[in-house]
Amino acid sequence: MHSTEGEYIYMSRVYNFNAGPAALPLPVLEQAQAEMLEWGGSGMSVMEMSHRSKDFASIVEAAEANVRKLMNISDDYEVLFLQGGASLQFAMIPMNLRRPGKTADYVDTGSWASKAIKEAKVTGTTNVAWSGKEENYMRVPKEGELNLTSGAEYVHICSNETIGGIRFPDFPKTDAPLIADMSSEIMSRVIDVSQFSMIYAGAQKNLGPSGLALVIIRKDLIERTSEDTPIFLRYSTHAKEKSLYNTPNTWAIYILKLVTDYFDSLGGIAEVQKINEAKAKALYDVLDSSSFWRAPADKESRSIMNVVWRLPSEELEETFVAEAKKAGMVGLKGHRSVGGIRASIYNAVPKEAVDCLIAFMKDFEAKNG
Ligand SMILES: *Cc1c(COP(=O)(O)O)cnc(C)c1O
Repeated sequence: MHSTEGEYIYMSRVYNFNAGPAALPLPVLEQAQAEMLEWGGSGMSVMEMSHRSKDFASIVEAAEANVRKLMNISDDYEVLFLQGGASLQFAMIPMNLRRPGKTADYVDTGSWASKAIKEAKVTGTTNVAWSGKEENYMRVPKEGELNLTSGAEYVHICSNETIGGIRFPDFPKTDAPLIADMSSEIMSRVIDVSQFSMIYAGAQKNLGPSGLALVIIRKDLIERTSEDTPIFLRYSTHAKEKSLYNTPNTWAIYILKLVTDYFDSLGGIAEVQKINEAKAKALYDVLDSSSFWRAPADKESRSIMNVVWRLPSEELEETFVAEAKKAGMVGLKGHRSVGGIRASIYNAVPKEAVDCLIAFMKDFEAKNG
């Protein structure tokens, strides 16, 4: 099989295009392996440490400092590491930030936005300000298409739809606080955090293992939460305790720290973005080069993290996935709800993986086109 970057060649490692949990940078896995039995002179692994120990405090502080540095986050925001993934945020956001009798606006761009909307409807008034459903979620809305509520508590978007493979190239300007689910694109491109009142992401796409959510939230927003909200589900609880109110997912925070160290070593998010754009462009160029491939997403809305496409028949799609697997490339089957092919090319997926996929595609088209 192919070689990978790093000191060793792992004969059994594949090129991993999984949508999530997804590929992790090889140098991170190597470091975690090296520190597995004993971390930094502590005499134990990170998983065995007290979350109240000085050693673990140094890890969680470094993780937060990395996030702040890489995303250029000001002191107006809290950076929290919470459990329950991005899905618990779907519930916590309306519980904390939509006061009784008020409305929250949601933009429906696909599967994940819809799931957030479904959860918001459980606890209060939810206005769907725009929906791409009737167009099969092939694009994000243009400025001016949003039907926003005056005096809304917030506007929620999913900035990158993992299943449909679309993203906001730029973000809507709203009077109400803007909140974004960035699970599948966090730290993949430079963004201006100050445009948002809150950004959150499940870690398992770009940042580390599953079960951890990164939450970046303006301090003034945290004050909104009413006393009726369960203590554990309040942002204020976790902010006050620096993400250590109860035992957090210590291992996942440690891996996130290593992953963000790695992004920093590449030169930060601007450099990561360049690599990501090159990978995505190379892949979309192949998809645009012939009618054998069909990428349904509108060009302006194309995701650079999740690239979705169809082949002339479902039978050929199955063959494509099976043969790619034999060639050492896995995770290419589209989500069960939309079918087709999806290559998730997150930060940790190396350019060589995409080059290998492209060579395979050209060969596949020559044989089957
Ligand atoms: C994966 C994903 C989620 C769900 O994440 P969990 O950690 O499984 O709850 C939510 N939103 C988006 C955009 C995702 O890609």
